Amino acid sequence: MGRGGFHNTMMVFPQPRSAYLHIPFCHRRCFYCDFPVVPLGDRANGAQSRSVAEYLRWLKTEISISPPGPPLSTVYLGGGTPSLLSVDQVEQLLALLRAQFGLAPGAEITMELDPASFNAEGLKGYCAAGVNRISLGVQSFTDSLLAAAGRRHTCQHIHTAVALVKAQGVARWSLDLIAGLPGLTPALWEATLEMALALAPPHVSLYDLTIGEGTVFDRWLQQGRLSLPTEATGAAMLDRAAERLEAAGLRRYEISSYALPGHACRHNRVYWAGGDWWGFGMGATSSLAGRRLSRPRTRHGYGEWLQQQPRAPSPLPVGAKERLEDLLITGLRRSEGVNREQLAEQCPLPLGALMTLSPRLERACAQGLLCSEGPYLRLGQPDGFRFSNQVLADCLLWVDELFGSGGAADGTSPVAPA
Ligand code: SF4
Repeated sequence: MGRGGFHNTMMVFPQPRSAYLHIPFCHRRCFYCDFPVVPLGDRANGAQSRSVAEYLRWLKTEISISPPGPPLSTVYLGGGTPSLLSVDQVEQLLALLRAQFGLAPGAEITMELDPASFNAEGLKGYCAAGVNRISLGVQSFTDSLLAAAGRRHTCQHIHTAVALVKAQGVARWSLDLIAGLPGLTPALWEATLEMALALAPPHVSLYDLTIGEGTVFDRWLQQGRLSLPTEATGAAMLDRAAERLEAAGLRRYEISSYALPGHACRHNRVYWAGGDWWGFGMGATSSLAGRRLSRPRTRHGYGEWLQQQPRAPSPLPVGAKERLEDLLITGLRRSEGVNREQLAEQCPLPLGALMTLSPRLERACAQGLLCSEGPYLRLGQPDGFRFSNQVLADCLLWVDELFGSGGAADGTSPVAPA
């Protein structure tokens, strides 16, 4: 097989130029987190853990049974807490990606770091291995809020971590912040924004608190023991953050992402643009030419799944309706929105159908929540971003309507082209 296609007995797919590697290990599970993670304890050290060693063997097996090439333009080591891995372990993973696919010149290689789990030597080693973009899981600058959310690091750890990143000369780095943590007040949020901006980050990811099902916070919420900011206060905090970040020159290029010019995350842009990527590891998903391959979310399940794979596992087709929902919802997260001419090329819907909005979406346009300009459809700023949940839900209803008249039950045969 040539290096440009993924052969699975029936078809040849164009291959992704991006890869996500899931490193599921964390010291402990944060109280709001429902990601596929494996808590190892506060004293854990990836280099000495048999559990980590076994998982990395599986991950390497999965990568090495993938079809080769083309060279990767973006790699993302996410988790979990990838900084629990030793330099050797990261080096081996990147060496394997180089051998299996190659890395394009100037490839973006991002690694998520927990502020309390790396030192200068480790960071230097990760960078020498090829990492050139760092994402720091900061979340808050208030120690009491960090502790109350089950986080292990403190504000001092954040300052030390950022100093290390700067001393190492890593120009492309990001910090994550969470609004809406229990106990967060507008004054504390203002202080968090002040401290974040004082560090001059070139990229900030700003999330509203999401409480995963079955998490400690979920249990406390059911028991009435969680004191969360009201919805209005939470929204005001996000608005204030947007105002402060944009005043500092960080442009909002996606609902949750702000960057100085040239610092947007190229890897995440692949997801939002409906591109293809390899996903490797427990809970990871690959997207390959309109097909998806999802792995089990538990360590045990992933190990068993991998044993059952005689060769590169085959991705499953995604129905046309689901594909359109994905492209629309992820694409609308970007400030530039979606181009309906391109959507029409990727989905079996006539352009005319995509250009005709539902009355509900027409109302959203009239209210400034949505903008429809030629083939472009995007969220209005700032109100479309502020009320994005509602607008995106309305977009999904529109897709239901588009596929409701004449679409097959499996969503693979929508309205006939005009
Ligand atoms: S560090 Fe991140 S991935 Fe790990 S438990 Fe906390 S929120 Fe989840």
